[in-house]
Amino acid sequence: MKKPIVCCDFDGTITKNDNIIRIMKHFAPSEWTKLKDDVLTKEITIQEGVGQMFQLLKSDQKEAIQSFILEDTEIREGFKQFVNHVKKADIPFYVLSGGMDFFVYHILEGIVEREDIFCNHASFHEEHIQIEWPHACDSQCQNGCGCCKPSIIRELTSENDFIIMIGDSVTDVEAAKHADLTFARDYLLNECKELGLVHEEYETFIDLKAQFDQIKEVKEWQTKRTSAGRS
Ligand code: MG
Ligand code: ZN
Repeated sequence: MKKPIVCCDFDGTITKNDNIIRIMKHFAPSEWTKLKDDVLTKEITIQEGVGQMFQLLKSDQKEAIQSFILEDTEIREGFKQFVNHVKKADIPFYVLSGGMDFFVYHILEGIVEREDIFCNHASFHEEHIQIEWPHACDSQCQNGCGCCKPSIIRELTSENDFIIMIGDSVTDVEAAKHADLTFARDYLLNECKELGLVHEEYETFIDLKAQFDQIKEVKEWQTKRTSAGRS
């Protein structure tokens, strides 16, 4: 019997918007758009592009950025209830984010434990913000992901796990290929369709929770646990 494990993207999935884009639009000089375009056309890797974008920002802007992000970040409906639901079922829940600890931890405070969050680290010791990459690509990935979701999944899971991926965009595609089931919306939804990956569509965590309960593997696993507990 496979054991479910949930890996969930952050930007555009848990939050409605992409936080890096919002930070750059608000705080960075116009050079950031060239870096963004170079990432999109794969001229440079995500790791290079995002690292250089943050170097455009001064370290003393940390607090201003944090309060800006906290002020109007919208979390997708039903997220907290969904996480509690998954935890109650004793299913591991991890957040895999290409964002930075100084805002991801903040937004998820009281919902997801820090040790269950995998993201990049921002350092404020120099004049400009430096990004460090504690979860960079392993030897099996050469994409320069920055925060490498397939590498984290390889590290976190074993063959006996039923991997459930939740995401929305281009950085989730490789992770979805490793998953047994992907909950997808937006760009990722089209990719799942094109690549023929096993997937379900979602818009909020309310409908995700309803679908989650339908998953046969999760149900069987829970039944098994319950009966094992009773005997
Ligand atoms: Mg995303
Ligand atoms: Zn990678």
